[in-house]
Amino acid sequence: MIIAVDGPAASGKSTLARRLAEALGFLYFDTGVMYRAVTVAALRQSVDINDDGAVSAIARTIDIDVRPPSIGDGRQYDVLLDGEDITWEIRSAAVDTNVSQVSTYADVRQAMTDVQRQIGLRGDVVMVGRDIGTVVLPEADLKLYLDASVEARAMRRYQECVERSETMDYEDILAWMKERDRIDSTRLIAPLRPAEDAILLDSTDLDAEQVYEQALSLVQDL
Ligand code: C5P
Repeated sequence: MIIAVDGPAASGKSTLARRLAEALGFLYFDTGVMYRAVTVAALRQSVDINDDGAVSAIARTIDIDVRPPSIGDGRQYDVLLDGEDITWEIRSAAVDTNVSQVSTYADVRQAMTDVQRQIGLRGDVVMVGRDIGTVVLPEADLKLYLDASVEARAMRRYQECVERSETMDYEDILAWMKERDRIDSTRLIAPLRPAEDAILLDSTDLDAEQVYEQALSLVQDL
């Protein structure tokens, strides 16, 4: 069985997908980490992030691996870039700022989509992203599109920062989230949008438990 979970940043996709995968004994795969890994590689090599050709060349040559967690420091998985652990680096502010631009490039997307499709087609997977139901795995058995108001999503990210004792301004997070939504949903290739046969869940006024219960009953109805 293949379950696709798409939606904008901080809509609760990862939390939902992780719980579903755990309950069903499926692989949980968060495709965002791959675009983030390409961004880390591009930033490290100091290429111009607006240079499609240079960023795409990097995407084609690097090796990205996602594995079960090797350290108990709160991580869900290890993310390796050419063998080096970049699990926390992919969450840096610099990556947050640049990842949506990197994700607009056709060749970057092709390289990432090929790998994601290969993993997804093995089945028994809950795959999370922006274009899983529309492009990566259009044959998915269940397509969920999780959404929430941008204010609610920005507040969630803000609270996560507070919990990690990071100093971030709510208004800055809100502005950055709006900008990422804009880039992700207006790009020409694989824009963020629900597949025609996706089921929409709005988590603005629901907690994680309620979203999970709704999604699980959809799985059970399959
Ligand atoms: O999900 P996450 O916030 O980690 O994704 C980071 C960025 O990667 C998104 O803002 C989007 O630009 C890109 N992305 C994508 N397609 C996916 C997953 C992520 O374009 N399937």
